[in-house]
Amino acid sequence: MSRKIVVAIDGPAGSGKSTTARLLAKKLGYIYIDTGAMYRAVTLFWLRKNLPLDEEIICKLLPNISINFENDAGVLKIYLNSEDVTNEIRTPEVTNNVSPVSAIKCVREFLVAQQRKLGEDGGVVMDGRDIGTVVFPDAELKIYLVASLEARIQRRLLELNQKGAEVTFEEVRKQIVERDIIDSTRQHSPLQKAQDAIEIDTTNLSIEEQVDIVYKLALQKINNL
Ligand code: C5P
Repeated sequence: MSRKIVVAIDGPAGSGKSTTARLLAKKLGYIYIDTGAMYRAVTLFWLRKNLPLDEEIICKLLPNISINFENDAGVLKIYLNSEDVTNEIRTPEVTNNVSPVSAIKCVREFLVAQQRKLGEDGGVVMDGRDIGTVVFPDAELKIYLVASLEARIQRRLLELNQKGAEVTFEEVRKQIVERDIIDSTRQHSPLQKAQDAIEIDTTNLSIEEQVDIVYKLALQKINNL
């Protein structure tokens, strides 16, 4: 039997990470871990407490947070202290606050430890910002997805409109640009391409095309082990 590898997929918001990672995991029969959802769950927990954005305060909340995933007929569900928060972590309020919360050192240490545990046996596709650089620096396959800002905005806009959210191109642009800046300039594990990551520009690729490219790369790795 072939060994199961770790596939790390990083990139900025709207570059196609989650869709690619989810479909790739399905094709490989691997587990998909959306690490952005974990940062969102911590943010939601903090928002519900109505507390200030203060490092010390947020660090003290962490022992009360338990995060779990469940695969429900192909849909990845996320539970915060046993409550299904799959939809709630995608609200604009969480999206607008997740980057500053994710920049806090103790939050990163707390979640990175859990992410490493989830992937320790391989057979996992994990997407995020620091998977190939910090969480699994030895991942067998590292992918770094990019796309033009225009394409990333259009994708998010479509996604949000499909969910019934009334947002404008300009609002989504502002959100994405702000998150890009915070995520890539923060002190602790900023978004950056791992030296050995393969960069794929998805601007002009269909979902099928981008999944197919990564799937072929994964098969090559698996067959050469
Ligand atoms: O992937 P998604 O857009 O849902 O991620 C939400 C936010 O979580 C990112 O903007 C980033 O601030 C944070 N994040 C992170 N490290 C990861 C995954 C997400 O800092 N590995």
